[in-house]
Amino acid sequence: MALMKKAKIIIKKINACLVKSCKKASDVNILSRIILYIAICMVAVAVGVVCFYKPARDAVFTHEHHTVVDVKSGDTLSKILGGQGFSVRDIDTISKNLKKDAEFTTLRAGRDKIDFVRENENAPISKIIIENGPWNKIEIDCGTPDTWQCQKMEIARDTRIAFKSGEIAQGSSFYLSAMQAGIPEGIILDVYDLLAFEMDFERDIRAGQKFYVLYEENFASDKKVENGHVLAISFDALRGNVKMYRFVKPDGKSGYYDENGNGAIKSLKRTPINNAKITSSFSGKRKHPVLGFTRAHKGVDFRAPTGTPIPAAGAGRVIARSFNRGHGNFVKIRHNGTFETLYAHMSKFAKGVNVGTVVRQGQIIGYAGSTGISTGPHLHYEVIKNGVHVNPMTVKLPAIDNLDAANKKLFLERKELIDSTINSLRDNPNQIVRLEVNEKAKK
Ligand SMILES: [Zn+2]
Repeated sequence: MALMKKAKIIIKKINACLVKSCKKASDVNILSRIILYIAICMVAVAVGVVCFYKPARDAVFTHEHHTVVDVKSGDTLSKILGGQGFSVRDIDTISKNLKKDAEFTTLRAGRDKIDFVRENENAPISKIIIENGPWNKIEIDCGTPDTWQCQKMEIARDTRIAFKSGEIAQGSSFYLSAMQAGIPEGIILDVYDLLAFEMDFERDIRAGQKFYVLYEENFASDKKVENGHVLAISFDALRGNVKMYRFVKPDGKSGYYDENGNGAIKSLKRTPINNAKITSSFSGKRKHPVLGFTRAHKGVDFRAPTGTPIPAAGAGRVIARSFNRGHGNFVKIRHNGTFETLYAHMSKFAKGVNVGTVVRQGQIIGYAGSTGISTGPHLHYEVIKNGVHVNPMTVKLPAIDNLDAANKKLFLERKELIDSTINSLRDNPNQIVRLEVNEKAKK
């Protein structure tokens, strides 16, 4: 392009001279003027080419020859290098240098690739490139004499932003509708996880619910390598539209927040009643204080005087509000497709809490008591994950995370940027958009 510009400038100058000289010599006829003009142009272009054109050496004069070996199960570096005709001495040098200069010791089958580069088809191998992971490679140069120096290189990551929107089709699932909207499977699974405490994907899905996802796609040399983070989600859930935005705090920690900057990842509280003392822990086996024989304690007991309000540990739907001999008055809540919680020995239920009631986290569902098989007033709390009782104190749950005032301000600026990106991509989905990454520490 620069070359063309320079050539154009030269032509303009020549043209200007020509016009001047022709004014003086009016007898020059038009035809000869044109011929002269063309000839001068050609000379100018030729001069331009000679002066400014520097050929790209690799592209024009060399025909590098590549032999790419995929690392398979059972492969070792020595085995692969041996297979390419390397001597024991060279293999030893390369292994040592890899360890010393690139902290590289093991090849991973099914993932790593080794590219053997020759200057031409018949030349000896002059360079080895180990591609270990999408963003790393190690170059090993033969050198003179054969020193086989290693150099760790990072592959530049070009992060572009993708926007996909859709609607739940009649009789379809979120998964199928999202696939139809062109959302990659990995991103759909991320969305499931992010919305896990917000909605029940089996029971709360209705035809016509609209959704969108904004996410990253990581490219290397214009080729898509992998999907990155989900940056924003919107879902028309049963109890209203749910929006989430990814935000990375200045300390490098990331999280998802709602439009107002409140932690958007809902979770369960391990202790529904704040500051309540544990009087009996979860255990596979324990001697039951009333029944006398040993049996598992499937929950945690918290000391709570009769009448202490019991809040729901997380948002969800009441699926049982009943009495049985063991639990006495109890309430069971389904939070999502994975988690349920149960609250036992209640003296009474909260008003308006029935089977089917949708409750929010912290909403009072009943009051502590000693109904059922119980030695005294307390809350017996169970967490059931995929149908199995788990220890509420140790089960892995997403952290409930809120932003302080300073981070909230930064978040709201980020949210504006994400919203305008969504609008822009919605209007023109094919444009290439890059967002300034507000991350200090990338994963
Ligand atoms: Zn108990």
